[in-house]
Amino acid sequence: MNEHATESETIHDVIVVGSGVAGLSAAVYAARADLEPLVLEGPEPGGQLTLTTDVENYLGFPEGVGGMELIQRGKDQAHRFGAEFRHGSIESATFDERPFELDLATGDTLRTRALIVATGASARWVGAENEDELMGYGLSTCATCDGAFHRGDDVLVIGGGDSAMEEALFLAKFADSVTIVHRRDELRASDIMARRARDHEKISFRWNTELLEIHGTQDGGVTGATLVRHPDGRPKKKLEAGANVEYDEVDVGGIFYGVGHVPNTDFLANTAVTLDDSGHLRTLDGRTTETSVDGVFGAGDVMDPEYRQAITAAGTGSMAALDAEAWLEERAIAGTQSDAVTEVPADD
Ligand code: NAP
Repeated sequence: MNEHATESETIHDVIVVGSGVAGLSAAVYAARADLEPLVLEGPEPGGQLTLTTDVENYLGFPEGVGGMELIQRGKDQAHRFGAEFRHGSIESATFDERPFELDLATGDTLRTRALIVATGASARWVGAENEDELMGYGLSTCATCDGAFHRGDDVLVIGGGDSAMEEALFLAKFADSVTIVHRRDELRASDIMARRARDHEKISFRWNTELLEIHGTQDGGVTGATLVRHPDGRPKKKLEAGANVEYDEVDVGGIFYGVGHVPNTDFLANTAVTLDDSGHLRTLDGRTTETSVDGVFGAGDVMDPEYRQAITAAGTGSMAALDAEAWLEERAIAGTQSDAVTEVPADD
């Protein structure tokens, strides 16, 4: 790399997009392989772990470890081996020519031979009336960030998976009562998390129920909600289909969404990188991190609709870096560093 080159002239060997556990793990491996990776931190630096309190199932921490601490340690580790970090998000990417070009929201363009996409996933919203207006004003997707504002409140948590249980258990430290609103009558959460929530004296459940409308104002915060219920579950769908549902108005001071996440792949939408129906980056059949564009690799929640664990994200991050390293080496040996891009058809 020429140190006098301007940013857009510099050609990186590897850029890692995303600085959650997958991106950091990729950065550590790529840096140790002397690839001098540049890590683009993205709009949510550190990713989802920064919104978690204790991580109890990451190998090597028998007493658990704070999400923030784990991320900071990963960042320090990547720094130690020479990874560079910069703030920024990709607006659009061009894979038609080599090196790849990444246009940032700031107007800058970055160029790289290999790209590791580790952009993770962001909290899903449920589509209740007034959620746009009240998000951040008593409506939240992050109990660890906003829970302490709800001391003495009655609050709702929407969802039936581990995230919803975790949010509810955290909120129960502050709120007077926590009601988990789930659209079916069976939880998706793991047994251990479900049991903890069920056993908690402040936590109760509303089954076969969904959030239709949120009441409140930005000045006064959330004051209540309209819920709908149908004995067979998924009441909003039943309502759309013209069935009768039960309505219930509740007074609450806060509402927390814990309904899962959507992968952050908007910048790949009009590129040759294949995505699946839910927007996850698709890797080639039988390969862990290679995508439909030769030289673009995926790691972490952005390509994993199934496991979505910190430890699996770290694992695929390291794999993406190893795959990128091998790919760069093969191309260097073959002398094809500036070849035209070849697209690999995604397997069905
Ligand atoms: P998830 O397992 O996909 O669960 C999402 C929940 O939200 C489901 O119960 C789903 O209902 C409900 N939901 C989805 N869209 C909805 C909508 N529009 N309206 C109402 N409800 C909706 O997601 P997650 O809970 O975020 O967990 C993701 C992964 O992370 C899992 O592998 C989980 O084990 C892991 N995780 C682990 C921990 C932990 O161990 N401490 C903590 C958090 C997450 P249905 O059930 O009807 O589909």
